[in-house]
Amino acid sequence: MKVISAIKIGNMKDSDESKRGKVGVLDVPESPMGDEDVKIKVAYCAICGSDPHLVEGIFGWEPPFGLGHELSGTIVELGKNANKKGLKIGDKVAGNFLQFCGTCYYCRNGQEQFCEHTRNEPGMAEYVVWHESQVFKMPDEVSFEQACLLEPVSVAVRIIDKTNIKIGQRVAVSGGGPIGLLTLQMLKMFGATSLTLIEPIPQRQELAREFGADFIIDPISQNVEEEAKKITGGLGFDLVIEASGSPKAAPAACNIAAKGGTVLYIAMFPKDYVMPLNLYEKCYSNELTISGTNVSPYAFPRAMQILPRMKLDKFTNKIFTIDQAEEAFEAQVSGKYPKILIKCNDF
Ligand SMILES: [Zn+2]
Ligand SMILES: [Zn+2]
Repeated sequence: MKVISAIKIGNMKDSDESKRGKVGVLDVPESPMGDEDVKIKVAYCAICGSDPHLVEGIFGWEPPFGLGHELSGTIVELGKNANKKGLKIGDKVAGNFLQFCGTCYYCRNGQEQFCEHTRNEPGMAEYVVWHESQVFKMPDEVSFEQACLLEPVSVAVRIIDKTNIKIGQRVAVSGGGPIGLLTLQMLKMFGATSLTLIEPIPQRQELAREFGADFIIDPISQNVEEEAKKITGGLGFDLVIEASGSPKAAPAACNIAAKGGTVLYIAMFPKDYVMPLNLYEKCYSNELTISGTNVSPYAFPRAMQILPRMKLDKFTNKIFTIDQAEEAFEAQVSGKYPKILIKCNDF
């Protein structure tokens, strides 16, 4: 079967730049089915903001490896013990690309994001084999296009979990990619005020307004810290979500936070990036809480509940096939489209 993958560039030797790759399509065998596994014929797999960066090598993964973790599809085969959730052949499903073992120290300690025995199959493929625990049956009114966004919605749920937001708090989101915009929608539901998106791309600014942003700061043409002061009457934001993953934007997130505020760095930053942080000012004087998120532990059941209430139409319009992988990734990198879907099979 076909899988969109990061592959090595040309005749590059292992020694030079061995971690840089390009996008291609590999022909790989389907995975074997275990007794508790479910085989899914993939309908759509969305491109995540992190996917082109994985290919570029900024997280240090070495090609070749398959891509994709935001998928929807139909169940075509059930292992003989995949019977704990009432799943049936033909069900429309989506879910968690990571299988957590459920047994290790972290899984038993309420921290499955640190599981030491995860299994992960590439989703930009014709089929995936998942453990039953990863699979969620989608309601009929959710389309296959919307269903593949269950994973990014679960990431936004997890981000909200880490905010401890209180109604009426002033909130800024830095970065208007899909995760930033989905999180912004949820923050609006939570009663965020002075809700601000920091983002240079006009189409993304427009979407943020549609999703309930009160203010936009353009970090290219405006001074982020001065604008933040104006918006918050000099106090700063109680909560800042840094979702751009850009080293250029990262330090400002702490500078625009209010005293006692929370700053979450939720993007995958380049592996070797180190941010300077004035600990006297930010942690002693201002008592900031600074944290991040890693995947979306325990968030899928609630992502299922909230997904039908999210505005997803603008994320499901731009569609490519597996054979158009290179074109699709170029379109992704252009930043012109809110989200790009790969159609992995005809339905
Ligand atoms: Zn992702
Ligand atoms: Zn585990």
